[in-house]
Amino acid sequence: MSRSRVVIVGAGFAGYQAARALSRHRGLREEAEIVLINPTDYFLYLPLLPQVSAGVLEARRVAVSLPSTLRGVRLVLGEVDGVDLDRGSVSYTGPEGDRGELGYDRLLLTVGSVNKLLPIPGIAEHAHGFRGMPEALYLRDHITRQLELAGGTDDPGECAARCTFVVVGAGYTGTEVAAQGKLYTDTLVKRHRVLRHRDPPRWLLLDIAERVLPELDPRLSRTADRVLRGRGVEVRTGQSVKEATSDGVLLDTGEHLATRSLIWCVGVRPDPLVADVGLPAEKGRLVVGPELVVPGHPEVYAAGDAAAVPDRTRPGSYTPMTAQHASRQGKTAARNIAASFGYGSTRPYKHHDLGFTVDLGGVKAAANPLRVPLSGIAAGAVTRGYHLMAMPGNRVRVAADWLLDAVLPRQAVQLGIVRSYAVPLDTAAPELPRGPDQWTRNAPPPSGPAPAGRPATEPPESKPPHSTSSDRPQANGERPS
Ligand SMILES: Cc1cc2nc3c(=O)[nH]c(=O)nc-3n(C[C@H](O)[C@H](O)[C@H](O)COP(=O)(O)OP(=O)(O)OC[C@H]3O[C@@H](n4cnc5c(N)ncnc54)[C@H](O)[C@@H]3O)c2cc1C
Repeated sequence: MSRSRVVIVGAGFAGYQAARALSRHRGLREEAEIVLINPTDYFLYLPLLPQVSAGVLEARRVAVSLPSTLRGVRLVLGEVDGVDLDRGSVSYTGPEGDRGELGYDRLLLTVGSVNKLLPIPGIAEHAHGFRGMPEALYLRDHITRQLELAGGTDDPGECAARCTFVVVGAGYTGTEVAAQGKLYTDTLVKRHRVLRHRDPPRWLLLDIAERVLPELDPRLSRTADRVLRGRGVEVRTGQSVKEATSDGVLLDTGEHLATRSLIWCVGVRPDPLVADVGLPAEKGRLVVGPELVVPGHPEVYAAGDAAAVPDRTRPGSYTPMTAQHASRQGKTAARNIAASFGYGSTRPYKHHDLGFTVDLGGVKAAANPLRVPLSGIAAGAVTRGYHLMAMPGNRVRVAADWLLDAVLPRQAVQLGIVRSYAVPLDTAAPELPRGPDQWTRNAPPPSGPAPAGRPATEPPESKPPHSTSSDRPQANGERPS
């Protein structure tokens, strides 16, 4: 008798945990093959990505190898671009352009989310998002390069523009990027012969909301605001971008900021594959029941950012798009898939938020573990301890990088491997850098920064770039997409 097959699409927080739990289930492993399809061979620990862009951590530290940590799981490298629910199969494109198809007996969709676009002139062409490894590597190089170019010019206008960094969206991603970025540029400037005698780099953090981290506990917002301002970040709440050009941004206040760096952290939307599947969705997230099963398709499950999971702690809303929920949903999906083969019993998903941690760089953080607000060094220790515990691998290497960063100057070299065109804002696959010959309908051809790849299937939405569409959990348990 041939073995059944469980196919998991996406090896992020939900997919990784599901694959791990299923592979540890001996009975199930004998009965069913567990296949994980992902475009990369690593699980990306997204919460530490801002530290990669600021040169604290080397990129491979936040990339946990799938083959070495998921024994008993068959990894298929590829990007799924079709799900045939009638035939029970998925089709995918491999890293070398090869096409493939896989039949399944159970399917778990955990494809996460991608950068959110808004219909603001110039954004798709001139802003870069922060959702994947290529963008983090690009940003680290870009920041370093801007300071080096600023130091080499005698034109004060150009120097000021290159030393101005605008981050839009003060959710946890934007807040961490700005906090870490300012520390990074200050460090570089201190060691630069010319720049240390000029004005310090400017970092601006914009959000249309009235406070940073608007969806988190106000006490975390106050801590983050204090740390950011104390560090010299210009926190601009109640403001947004009206237009972006190659030499700057126009704010909705009428102010023009000359800059070469627009970092777009206003939020994410579910991966466009969800829309392609053609099943009912809620704000782009695949509708599932409390057991994470798609209604009418008992063999199809979904979890994480891509799924609209009923939040049983807040009836009437969906669970927020956070790693905390995604990883737990992955484990619940694994349990329920095993139960569908007759191993154990089904369980509905329920999880009370355990609080949040926001790393503000250096020893500073804002955290509220179990709703206890913390700031300063205590928050920093809790935040780093939490990340080490939550990472499924690479812990010693991460801790070693933190130690080295505490005692040695940061390495300020830009390798220039990820170019601007490789990290378009409008992409359905932020985990893969794009080639110069690939571009999407929302962005210009290769003469400009050339976005590429599997085109995003959703048109940009007509909302202002404000924080409620951002990358953080919402008090009502749902993050609009
Ligand atoms: C910079 C940043 C910092 C964050 N910090 C925090 C934090 O501190 N705390 C917190 O709780 N949350 C945080 N989040 C949010 C959290 O990372 C997400 O909620 C979480 O990653 C969602 O998990 P997921 O498994 O649904 O998706 P992901 O982790 O995004 O994984 C999706 C996976 O699916 C793959 N994939 C996508 N499309 C396809 C396809 N077509 N075929 C095959 N594979 C595909 C992707 O490559 C990826 O591996 C942060 C997010 C970002 C961007």
